Amino acid sequence: MCLEAEDGEGGSRDLVAVAPHAAVEAGREPVPRRAAPAPAAEPPGPAEDAAPRGAAAPAAPAWEMAELAAQNAVFERRGGPAEDIVAWAAERYRPEAVLACSFGVEDCVLVDICFRHAPDVQIFYLDTQLLFPETYEARDRLVARYGIRPVPVLPALTPEEQARRHGPALWSRDPDLCCHMRKVVPLEGFLRGRRAWITGVRRDQAPSRAGAPFVGWDQRFGLAKANPLAAWSSRDVWRYVHEHDVPYCSLHDQGFPSIGCWPCTRAVGPGEDPRAGRWSGSTKTECGLHA
Ligand code: SF4
Repeated sequence: MCLEAEDGEGGSRDLVAVAPHAAVEAGREPVPRRAAPAPAAEPPGPAEDAAPRGAAAPAAPAWEMAELAAQNAVFERRGGPAEDIVAWAAERYRPEAVLACSFGVEDCVLVDICFRHAPDVQIFYLDTQLLFPETYEARDRLVARYGIRPVPVLPALTPEEQARRHGPALWSRDPDLCCHMRKVVPLEGFLRGRRAWITGVRRDQAPSRAGAPFVGWDQRFGLAKANPLAAWSSRDVWRYVHEHDVPYCSLHDQGFPSIGCWPCTRAVGPGEDPRAGRWSGSTKTECGLHA
């Protein structure tokens, strides 16, 4: 997840009601190249959406840091493999290892790997309530195929409440605050008390991800993090999808190598960077989940 869908860049077996999203399917408003003036807004909101950005998480015990470093060295020597990393994380942190799924192609691959090698790993997704209809369709195809029950993790405010409190289209004026409220804070809440999360981060997706270990300590969220696909290329991902007939989001076939919320994602053209369609026209490159 980012909890964000990549391809071209990742559900649980505990069923939770899925939030309605029909209101956001009516239109797709791209990020403008120039910031609009902030309209009058309601007074500051509750703690859920005013939580400080970049708050420190608990540090890992020295012994766990050493264990993770040693285990990462083992995986580095062996080049993974992804199935072993998933199985190790599930076993080492059972029952508190979770899979972050954005329903992008990498995360679809991880759902398949978990189904085969770690079927009790809980799967969750950040439902910003601003996802593409095609993203929900991909979720539903994975549910039908694997029998998973992805847990939706929701922000404190609906898009309508956010607009009343912070003004309309906050993503176009302060996408960092929008991501903080709709992704980072909900993720912090969901991961609190968990011991490890598994993500679809790949090193070649972005310079900011180039140093991602196979397993390590996530300083930002205060738990272990496993990146089983860290060394995979986009070609590796698609080879796995075709070999195992993994369901994936149809937007990947429509010029969207990387998929996030509809207001902040556009298709990319030939030769463009795969992530050029994310927050296009702004300097933002990450949503704050994998920084
Ligand atoms: S990706 Fe865009 S719409 Fe989604 S939470 Fe971030 S800024 Fe808001």
